Amino acid sequence: MDLHNLTLVQVRDLLDNQQITSRQLTDYYLKRLEKYDSYIHSCLFIDYAEARRVADLADERLARGERGGVLGIPYIVKDNILTKGLKTTAGSKMLADYVAPYDATVISRLKQAGAVLVAKANLDEFALGSSTENSAFGPTHNPYNLSMVPGGSSGGSAAALAADFCTFALGSDTGGSVRHPASLCGVVGYRPSYGAISRHGLVAMASSLDAIGILAHSATDVATIMGVIAGPDKYDATASLVLEAPTRVSQTINWTNIKIGWPAEYFGPGLDSEVADNLSQIKNLLLDKGATILPVNLPLTSYGVSAYTVINMAEVSSNLARFDGLRYGHQTGGSNLLETYLNNRGNGFGAEAKRRIMLGTYFLSAGEGGSYYKKAQIVRAMISREFKEIFTQVDYLFTPTTPTAAFPLGAKVNDPLSLYLEDSLLTPASLAHLPAVSIPIGWTSANLPIGGQIIGKRRDDYKVLTLAQAIQDIIDLPSQSLTWETN
Ligand code: GLN
Repeated sequence: MDLHNLTLVQVRDLLDNQQITSRQLTDYYLKRLEKYDSYIHSCLFIDYAEARRVADLADERLARGERGGVLGIPYIVKDNILTKGLKTTAGSKMLADYVAPYDATVISRLKQAGAVLVAKANLDEFALGSSTENSAFGPTHNPYNLSMVPGGSSGGSAAALAADFCTFALGSDTGGSVRHPASLCGVVGYRPSYGAISRHGLVAMASSLDAIGILAHSATDVATIMGVIAGPDKYDATASLVLEAPTRVSQTINWTNIKIGWPAEYFGPGLDSEVADNLSQIKNLLLDKGATILPVNLPLTSYGVSAYTVINMAEVSSNLARFDGLRYGHQTGGSNLLETYLNNRGNGFGAEAKRRIMLGTYFLSAGEGGSYYKKAQIVRAMISREFKEIFTQVDYLFTPTTPTAAFPLGAKVNDPLSLYLEDSLLTPASLAHLPAVSIPIGWTSANLPIGGQIIGKRRDDYKVLTLAQAIQDIIDLPSQSLTWETN
């Protein structure tokens, strides 16, 4: 049976109808990882024996008549999400040998539902980056062109899914880290409304922005996974949203009721012409279907990256303060306490973490707090208000996910500002705590994926996913071959 690039819905049917076992499916992915991940470097740790053991347990449950959800479905998780008994490095030398004593809530919920954890995925150190080149363990390559970046910071998760090493993957999205690599790797990447998915057991980066997100082949798949992992959690006071989940994302949509805003500021200078052309084709498809598309303005969009950068660095500097190597983590040691701190942190953290610790500390310092952090919070509130007003006129916004397709490895490593600007179309929804999803909408002439972003009102996650699936259905994007793959 050809198991290539199956969606969760397809795998579910095969498992429930006993056409394959979870063990066979798990072996299919494990063999591909073993054979091909040397090209991609999407994963840091692969737990072959445990994955097979859990798959066998899922098969026993299936044999007893259990069905549905994620039972028996193999997945990969970004390595900043804690997994009991399996390393969690956050892509940093600081945590190179760290094994968490407990599972993140998302992991324990998936475990209970019978999903099969196959591997931990590579990422930018502490999720700081947009290319997965900031990993202490080497970069990940884009499966569609090995000399290109996969995007980031959840680049390992997106690349693993695009390379067909799992049925779905988890990542984290602070300022775009799920949507960005999803766009560059041609998969669906969803950031929930802030508070919809527990972050207990996610290595904290910038707490007022962090969200755990889902990468899958279809928006319907994302909704199924949401059904398992979303919802309040006593271990995370911010996980307070209860979203009303449909039993299944609706297969039909009444296009004449769909009102989509097309924000001019997301189509400004810097947008690649192939990406822009692709977006206009999508617009025509939507108009043909009968959707209403309104040109709208979000003039504060260009302030998103600045506000995000200040808030992000301030919060990163405070969250990373806990890593000093004294109780756990990297230890170089020293002859006195100060030297020990300096050595442990100096050798444990990479360049981007240090840059943000220093700038963030400055932004929060007594003399500067008012001019940076507070100002950025005011801009953030204004951006949220701007979205709120637009959402009285339209129900969704459609935008490019990134201004360009994947760029070459190494092209931006020495230019942090140009990397920060990669997120220019992604940070506004993060700042405003809105749900947003990137879906694959086309290919460039060089066969690289192009992504489109749908942003919705807070709590409208399932509506956003329903529209995303409907758009995926009308585009019906052809797949491209992976050149490194041989049979
Ligand atoms: N690229 C952004 C940053 O480096 C976003 C990272 C993220 O969402 N984790 O801050």
